[in-house]
Amino acid sequence: MGGLRDKIAERAGWLVASAYAVLRDKPLCDRCLGRLFGLLGKGVSNEERGRSLRLALVMTLHSLVRDGDEEAKKALVELAPRLCTVSRRLFRELGVECRSETCAICGGRLGELIERVAAISKAILEEYDASTFVVGVRLSGDIRRLEEEIVSKYSLPYAESVASEVKREVGKRLQALGFKVDFENPDVTLLVSYPDGTVTPVVNPMMFFGFYRKLARRISQSSWITRQGVKRYPFSVQDAYTPLQVALGGTSIVIHAAGREDVDVRMLGSGRPIVVEVKEPKRRRVEVKQLEKIVNEEWPGLFETSLEARVVRSFIRGLLKGDEGEERHSKVYRALVYVPDGVDPSDIKRLEEFFRNRVVRQRTPKRVRHRRADRIRERRVFRVAAAPLNHNMFVALIHAEGGLYIKELVSGEDTWPGFPDALGKQAVCVELDVLWVESRLRLKKGIIEEGAEEGEHGKAAQGLPASHAETAQEAYTREGRGSTVEPAHV
Ligand SMILES: [Zn+2]
Repeated sequence: MGGLRDKIAERAGWLVASAYAVLRDKPLCDRCLGRLFGLLGKGVSNEERGRSLRLALVMTLHSLVRDGDEEAKKALVELAPRLCTVSRRLFRELGVECRSETCAICGGRLGELIERVAAISKAILEEYDASTFVVGVRLSGDIRRLEEEIVSKYSLPYAESVASEVKREVGKRLQALGFKVDFENPDVTLLVSYPDGTVTPVVNPMMFFGFYRKLARRISQSSWITRQGVKRYPFSVQDAYTPLQVALGGTSIVIHAAGREDVDVRMLGSGRPIVVEVKEPKRRRVEVKQLEKIVNEEWPGLFETSLEARVVRSFIRGLLKGDEGEERHSKVYRALVYVPDGVDPSDIKRLEEFFRNRVVRQRTPKRVRHRRADRIRERRVFRVAAAPLNHNMFVALIHAEGGLYIKELVSGEDTWPGFPDALGKQAVCVELDVLWVESRLRLKKGIIEEGAEEGEHGKAAQGLPASHAETAQEAYTREGRGSTVEPAHV
């Protein structure tokens, strides 16, 4: 027992002596003094910690004074402004006036600042219809240096930063109001500046996964603004989602599609996978299917979309590059082909037999070389099925690996072999539609299902091939965090 008692004496002595050393150096309020030992004792406020330490110090000095220690008496008198709040009568008896000093770290205004920041934060979360949040605190250089100086000068391994206290206390108040903390994917990140107490919201976009169908030609994917500042095409896939932006009160729209078709090519059938991102929405509690309806009602006969679920940012990566990447999708096309020299049933038969599981080598077509690397790629044509329309025209259904340029496959330009190699005749692609885009992307980790608990996500992921779940998981841990603004570290 003696051993532990000695250890306690030593450690308690260290605690009180540390408090003495710090207070001799700087005036600190209970809260800021207690925070220097913030990791000790749970469920205790820093204010209680600070007050207890201050009292223990006064008691220690008082016991020395009672034994006639002059040095201790001198310290009590000198430090009176930093000690007297815990034992006013003692100081009165010592004949010292109790004038307290302003705290060097918070100026005695921390409590008030926390309440003010919590009130501003609540208003912001309401403004953005947010239900989840995370608080980040940025300390001014002066405060950061002061904290570092105290902690290192007096070797205080259990100290916490004022930033942590602000984060925690503001968080507690917001949670008490029903808002939830979400470190991975908060609706709004609240960036608090300390000590001025301003709050800057970083609003997470809302992202929706779905499929789009372009029912008409001359629709570009993104709004194509020419050098003259006018739209190259009157309507785009991006424009089509404007009602979504309006419905959610967002500031802008960004689309992330798995590949794209030419402006003059329709996207029919299955539709193309897309993630629509609405920046800085002010309404979040809207049903996905309701949003889908709002978009579709706007463009009958022109454009259609399905919206499947809300997703997080890491999902986009999988959509564009992962197992679902554009190049991995096989597709079915319908091409209207013109043959100037005429086409007969035997030509059609030859074409179908020729393109049965055939690998095609293709150079990046001239028309896209300005945005795509000029290289030769190999892609497989799984099957072609064709039917003549008249003497010069036929319709072909083409099932091929993603990344094959179909207009060039038909014309044979920069493509070996192309349709002319099978037909022995020149061929021109007059019209083209995409009928089907392969997609295994239905439910995978990263999708936020409305109202679903975390456990449900796990279940959804279990229903997928392991590779899918892992890839998504990996992307999630790597990218997911990056998608939100990192809370400021102390
Ligand atoms: Zn303070």
